[in-house]
Amino acid sequence: MIEIFTIGGYNEVGKNMTAIRYNDEVVIVDMGFFLPKLISFEEEGGDRRNLTEKGLIKLGVFPDDTILNSIKNNVKAIVLGHCHLDHIGAVPFLAPKYNCSVFGTPYTIEVLKTMMDDDKMRIKNPLVAMNPGVVKKVSAHIEIELINVTHSTPQTAMVAIHTPEGIIIYANDFKLDSHPVIGKKPDFDRLKKLGDSGFVKALILDSLYAGDDRKTPSEKVAREMLKDVMFGTENTGNAIIATSFASHIARIKSMVEFGEKLDRKVVILGRSMMKYIGSAENLGIVNFSSNSEIVGYGDKVKKKLTHIQKEGKSKYLIICTGGQGETGAILTRIANNQLQFRFDYEDHVIFSNKTIPVPANIEARKNLERNLKNQKVRIFKDIHVSGHAGREDLRDLVKMIKPLNIIPAHGDSAMLNHMIDLAEEMGYVKGKNVHFCSNGNRVFLK
Ligand SMILES: [Zn+2]
Ligand SMILES: [Zn+2]
Repeated sequence: MIEIFTIGGYNEVGKNMTAIRYNDEVVIVDMGFFLPKLISFEEEGGDRRNLTEKGLIKLGVFPDDTILNSIKNNVKAIVLGHCHLDHIGAVPFLAPKYNCSVFGTPYTIEVLKTMMDDDKMRIKNPLVAMNPGVVKKVSAHIEIELINVTHSTPQTAMVAIHTPEGIIIYANDFKLDSHPVIGKKPDFDRLKKLGDSGFVKALILDSLYAGDDRKTPSEKVAREMLKDVMFGTENTGNAIIATSFASHIARIKSMVEFGEKLDRKVVILGRSMMKYIGSAENLGIVNFSSNSEIVGYGDKVKKKLTHIQKEGKSKYLIICTGGQGETGAILTRIANNQLQFRFDYEDHVIFSNKTIPVPANIEARKNLERNLKNQKVRIFKDIHVSGHAGREDLRDLVKMIKPLNIIPAHGDSAMLNHMIDLAEEMGYVKGKNVHFCSNGNRVFLK
C-alpha cells in the first residue's frame, strides 16, 4: 500500500514537505521553510543559527516532521524539486535526522550548498546532483526521477516516485511555458508517456492559483514587457534601477541584455543576487560577469553607488533586490537617503516582481512607492508574469497525467478548495479520489 504524509505546505504557502511510503520504504520530497515566520522572528532581533530544530518547528518556520519519527530509519531519499527556500530552506536542520542522500537538479544542489556555506552549516547527508530524465533506484522497490519543467528559477523539476503499485508525481511550483528564456520547455513527452501508462497513482498538485481562470503567460511575455519599458520610454539622462527576485535568473538575463543594448554599464547589487547568480555561473547557465559587474557585500555596494553617483547615473543600469520594500534592501536604503546615491527628477524604477501578498510586505512596498513618488521618480510596476500555473494549466496537466488520485498542495485551505473544485469539474470525487489534506495528515491509496 502507498501512503502519503502531507507534512507541510497544506495550510499555507510555504514550508513544503511531503513523504511517500511504500511498505517500509519512504521518500521525502522537499523540506522548506515558511519565510514570513522567519522574517518576523529575525526582525525582532532573533538569529536563526541560535534556534534549535525543535524551536523552529514550534515557531512555525519549519514543517513538523515528528509524524515520521517512528519510521525515520526507513527514509531512503530526500528529493528537492527546485531551489526556492519554501522547498529547501529546512534541509540543513531537518535532513540530518534521516540517514540518506539529498537529491536535486545541479542548480538546486548548488544553491543549497552555497546557502549552507554562507550560514556556515554542514550536514552529513550526501548532496547528489541529478539530471532530469534519469531514473534512479534509491531502495529495493522505489525509483526516483526528476522531470524538467519551467518555473521562476532554473532547473525546476517535477518529482516522480516509481513504486510497484504505481507512480506518484509531485508537481509543486511549475508553469507550462513553451517559450522559456532560460532552459528547455517542460518535458511534455515524458509527462504524457507516464500518463498514458495509466499507472500514475496520485498527483500532488500546486494549488496556489487554482482559483485563477487563466493560462499563465510565458516568461517571453515578461521579457517583452521589460523591453517595452526599457526601450519605449524616455530615459536618456536618467538613472534606471530594476528589481527582481535574486533567484529569477531568466528575468535578470533579460535585464542584463537590454541594459547592454542601451549602452549602459550593468551593475548587479546585493548578497542574494551574488549567491543565486554565482551558482548559475558555476554551472554555466549564464555568464553575466563577462560584461556586467556583480557587487555583493555591504561596503563594496556603498562604494559602487558613490562611484556611480559621481560618474553619472545615466550611464548605468542598476539591478538589485528590494521590490518588496524590505528594510535593509538596497532600493529601500537608496530611497531613504541612507546611501550616497540620490534620485533625481524622473529617474526610473522598474518593479519586475510581484509583492508577496502578506500584510508586512504590502505595507512596506506601499511606503517605498510613496517615498519614490515624493522624490519624483517614475515608477513602472507589475512588469512581471507569474512562475506558477493557473487553473487552465492545471487542467492541462491533469489531462496529460490522468492521475487516479489528486492531492491539492502548496496553499491554504481556500486555495486547496479551488483545486478540489477543478478536480470535481473534471469528474473526480472529493474524499474518494481527490483528497483535501492539512499539515500532518496521512492519505492511504488503495
Ligand atoms: Zn513554492
Ligand atoms: Zn518556487
